[in-house]
Amino acid sequence: MIKLNKVSKVFAMDAGNYTALKENDLHIKRGEFIAIMGPSGSGKSTLLQLIGGLDLPTSGEVTVDGVQLNGLNERERTLFRRTKVGFVFQNYQLLPMMTVAENVGLSLSANKAPSSEIAKRVNQLLQDVNLEGKASQFPSQLSGGQQQRVAIARALAMKPHLILADEPTGNLDQTNGEGILKLLSRLNKEEGITVVMVTHDRKAAQTADRIIMIQDGEVVPGGGSRS
Ligand code: ATP
Ligand code: MG
Repeated sequence: MIKLNKVSKVFAMDAGNYTALKENDLHIKRGEFIAIMGPSGSGKSTLLQLIGGLDLPTSGEVTVDGVQLNGLNERERTLFRRTKVGFVFQNYQLLPMMTVAENVGLSLSANKAPSSEIAKRVNQLLQDVNLEGKASQFPSQLSGGQQQRVAIARALAMKPHLILADEPTGNLDQTNGEGILKLLSRLNKEEGITVVMVTHDRKAAQTADRIIMIQDGEVVPGGGSRS
């Protein structure tokens, strides 16, 4: 599903270059639920962005679902993101001027799906995350846990094979956090969606099949299994 071959990411800064990821090899199988853990600044979000094609590595190759991301042009990369990957960001990144339904249907309308089809799919997705009844509300009218569920519904809109979630429970209380973990777990187990989740929370990470540790831009070798 996901293969990283000697992947490095160097950011050019005024003060010189900063290496955020160093020659990482990684293999994540289809259907796995992975937790990525590591100290702040260790490169977790950067890694997620490379896997999702939001950014490209400075060197090395990222392959997702058989697609070599380095080989895509800008337009192809946008299409890849929109159709193959569901992103769930830590701060939700919902559009404040759009309703819940419009936020969830964003990628569908960007792909020019017929509006009747969009409405049907959005209703289903809102049911799946227990937010039916909130369709015409605006994000600011929802709680943090509800906004996070909208973000997950939006990520699922295009039926991605892969969900990338950056601290999906980071801003939530325990009950809401557990609800999100259950939802991700169900999508993984029942729909076979591969889930890669960054988390600081050891308990949240126990939901995953495997924990990948990152330290100073390097995946810790063998830092692997849950037990
Ligand atoms: P956190 O747990 O705090 O979210 P993280 O593990 O997600 O941390 P990253 O966001 O991946 O860390 O950042 C890794 C390193 O790369 C950090 O030192 C960060 O300052 C640096 N970095 C990330 N993005 C950029 C950028 N666009 N330009 C320059 N440096 C960056
Ligand atoms: Mg981060």
